[in-house]
Amino acid sequence: MGPMAPLTRRAVLALGGLAATGLLAPHASADAAPATGGRLPRQVRRAGSPTDLERHDRDNLLVVVTKDRPLDPVDYAPDDLVDWRDPDYQLRAEVADQLSDLFDAAQEEGHRLRVISGYRSHETQRETYDYWVRTTGRKAADATSARPGHSEHQTGLAVDLDNDKGTCYLDQCFGDTAEGRWLAEEAHRFGFVISYPEGQRERTGYTYEPWHVRYVGPTVAGDMHREGFLLLEDYLAAEALRPALRRPGRARPV
Ligand SMILES: [Zn+2]
Repeated sequence: MGPMAPLTRRAVLALGGLAATGLLAPHASADAAPATGGRLPRQVRRAGSPTDLERHDRDNLLVVVTKDRPLDPVDYAPDDLVDWRDPDYQLRAEVADQLSDLFDAAQEEGHRLRVISGYRSHETQRETYDYWVRTTGRKAADATSARPGHSEHQTGLAVDLDNDKGTCYLDQCFGDTAEGRWLAEEAHRFGFVISYPEGQRERTGYTYEPWHVRYVGPTVAGDMHREGFLLLEDYLAAEALRPALRRPGRARPV
């Protein structure tokens, strides 16, 4: 799907400043400040051992959220949100920490990334979705914006990224930039996967979104990368069919 028309300043104000906080729909052209500043404290380190979320919150970590499958409860909110470098954006604590490592690794190879959307609450998503319904109609809104309770951003695990040039902001051409290619190849090392891969619209309901990554933890992201799974739900379904390989406490497909 193509980028949405830019919001006018009036529309931004009508949204109560949502755009200013970067909390608009995935395809809204809200201005977003580049991520700057220092590192987050390192609370989560992996060294071949499961991370905190992999050990203690696997059901929420691996929750599948789609157009057909809402969060349960529908107004779910994570209880461990932290600011991401810039207080406009929040993520679950482990996600922010791993993303910080990802950013550092990217920068070491000359790629500068920035966050352009993080956690969005049920209420924010409702306001956002309603805005698009009012201005573009329900069908168009559904093509570009998740209904409340159906957005991966509500899990605090998903993040939209851009490079520091902004020429492919929320655009599929981001996947062809050096940063987008690096992200597709390396994100799994830090526990992230691209939720809406190219050619999967029939399955996901969304066209290719190379900028939207979702945290599943390094173990599952590594498995998916190694075994060639594009979609988390396919990985979970396959995993359920090989019980001998299942690890204790591993989440079942939902
Ligand atoms: Zn997104």
